[in-house]
Amino acid sequence: MSELRALPSVDAILQNEDVKGLMSIYGRPLTTEAIRLSLDETRKTFQSHHSIPELSFLLTKIQKHLSEWATPSIMPVINATGVILHTNLGRAPLSLTAIRAMQVIGQGYSNLEFDLENGKRGSRYIHAETLLQQLTGAEAALVVNNNASAVLLILTALARRRAVVIARSQLIEIGGGFRVPDVMKQSGARLIEIGTTNRIHLSDYEQALEENPVAFLRAHRSNFRMVGFTSEPEVKDILSIAHKAGIIFIDDLGSGALIDTTKFGLGHEPTIQESLQAGADLVCFSGDKLLGGPQAGIILGKMALITKLKKHPLARAIRTDKFTLAGLSATLLHYLKNEAELEIPVWRMISMPLEQITTRANNWQKMLNAGEVINGLSTVGGGSLPGETLPTTLFSIEIKNPQAVLKKLRNNKLAIVARIQNDRIVFDPRTVLIEQEEVFTRSLKTILSGIL
Ligand SMILES: *Cc1c(COP(=O)(O)O)cnc(C)c1O
Repeated sequence: MSELRALPSVDAILQNEDVKGLMSIYGRPLTTEAIRLSLDETRKTFQSHHSIPELSFLLTKIQKHLSEWATPSIMPVINATGVILHTNLGRAPLSLTAIRAMQVIGQGYSNLEFDLENGKRGSRYIHAETLLQQLTGAEAALVVNNNASAVLLILTALARRRAVVIARSQLIEIGGGFRVPDVMKQSGARLIEIGTTNRIHLSDYEQALEENPVAFLRAHRSNFRMVGFTSEPEVKDILSIAHKAGIIFIDDLGSGALIDTTKFGLGHEPTIQESLQAGADLVCFSGDKLLGGPQAGIILGKMALITKLKKHPLARAIRTDKFTLAGLSATLLHYLKNEAELEIPVWRMISMPLEQITTRANNWQKMLNAGEVINGLSTVGGGSLPGETLPTTLFSIEIKNPQAVLKKLRNNKLAIVARIQNDRIVFDPRTVLIEQEEVFTRSLKTILSGIL
């Protein structure tokens, strides 16, 4: 105990030349806090010991705390899973043009809510709206924080204390706690469930009219597929019942594709254009799923309804920021210029030729002089095309204790996220960004050299 009293004081440590160096990087308050914490820890650890540690021991501790605190918790990772829209890994990577647009807007002031024509207050809503109208032919558009908040806003503004009809087969949970029935309850709308788990008929919609609903809601099944004895009426027929009864049809598309996915050997993901052409009054979808842009909730549809949504107080609470509007506009422009498959990473990955993927997997195998190249499957993910896969080529390594190796990969400075398939670790080149490929192979080489 008496020995511990001999530990230097905070003030004394602050005079140390190395600590002064740290202070110039991290500032005095943070450095002082790191010293205090390190002294506390040292006192606890050494209570039962007789000797006190060297100053260098304390310095290492201090430095470690500081660098930990100063490292942002959110950081880039390499996605080698082959899941293109990996929700836990941040969904859609953005196009370079979108990033630049966000950077330019972030660096300075902008006309976010300023009308440059008349020098008066403008509206942030106009920025992506024109592009969305041009692209989809929608009468009006509104961009909010994300699609969950889009659904919440629509139901709160239009269906509070009113009945909304939804098929039982669409009462989905999309993960992360978003359950369609819960969001409906939150909005104050009364949920009218119709049909059965596997089948829903037009007559179910007709009968539901007795409840005097304000809307029919359709929700994309996002992450599961129904097979077997199932049926669902066509949208145009549901719409015709809705419009005859004077109620609105809301289509929560979830992912919202603007490009036909069957072109790439995938199943058909409902497109935004299809819903609007069928006559849906409101369509909503995410900005960072198949659209390939920043996180956003995009609502398209009838002018009168969108105007109501814009005026609702909740719209202010879930409004989108300037970066999103800049990034989203740049992303939408790719579609207008017909260069989406070339410029938007999500579509580049979906349309990546198999030969190119195979060449990359072969290169990895050669470079590491280990593992083998096998056939495999990539998935689109992100609540779109459930059950659909794209043929791919995987770089695979057979290894003892693959879980421990996966952990090592995750702990890499630039974390690598891979997956296990049949007790092997597999890496899918499809989702590894070309820019990250060099660091990827270098890191892999270092990690594997200690194991193989
Ligand atoms: C993904 C999804 C949502 C939620 O979208 P976020 O942008 O993640 O909030 C809502 N509905 C459906 C059908 C979805 O697939």
